[in-house]
Amino acid sequence: MVDFGVRGVKLRSMLGLEMDREKLIEHLRHEIDDKRVLDAMARVRRELFVPSLSRRFAYEDRPLPIGEDQTISQPFIVALMTQALVLTGTEKVLELGTGSGYQAAILAELARQVITVERLQKLTQTARRTLKRLGYTNIEVHLATRTLGWPAEAPYDAIMVTAAAPRIPRELLEQLIIGGRLVIPVGSRWEQDLLQVIRRQDRITVKNLTHCRFVPLIGEEAWSEE
Ligand code: SAH
Repeated sequence: MVDFGVRGVKLRSMLGLEMDREKLIEHLRHEIDDKRVLDAMARVRRELFVPSLSRRFAYEDRPLPIGEDQTISQPFIVALMTQALVLTGTEKVLELGTGSGYQAAILAELARQVITVERLQKLTQTARRTLKRLGYTNIEVHLATRTLGWPAEAPYDAIMVTAAAPRIPRELLEQLIIGGRLVIPVGSRWEQDLLQVIRRQDRITVKNLTHCRFVPLIGEEAWSEE
């Protein structure tokens, strides 16, 4: 038997994760049509956004805990939500719920600029550090204020909310351009419908993408903290 030593063990587990990532992308290919989204997910190493003990599960298609009672979303949901924003590379995108920063990284691969907002200071700091270490220069991570979203840099071409809201928040629609896309889980605290909302001149159009479960969006226009 060959002894790889400590560095060898690390190398083998990195190669293992790379194979797991390829398998996950093949699995997502059955349900996600947008090749650009799949390519972006093949480029971003999800294991770098989860606590080290969860690293070996990074490419299972499920959410994982990231501390502070929050989770990094299931890869299929990340892909579906990203696809629903219909990004071409020129957009300014807002994300609510930075969490680990993984979804922000995927968005940054596909859009011009990403503004992401998180209400928990600890997660904000960790995500900022991870994204900086990975060299992203087109992502701004902000600590949330009492106002939903980030009106200072509005309007956005697309908005993604990665926490569950009781209804479509008017405040967010106001931060979107006419023709802009908002993807948001809407329903109860425990289960929701994932909606793609398009802001038209004088109305909105809504498409239901799937059933889902997100942690609650906290705020005056959303859920109260418990
Ligand atoms: N997109 C994340 C996962 C998000 S989990 C990722 O890729 O890892 C949902 C996050 O939304 C949690 O971190 C939670 O703290 C945050 N959140 C809840 N209410 C919020 C609000 N009003 N504004 C910003 N972030 C909020």
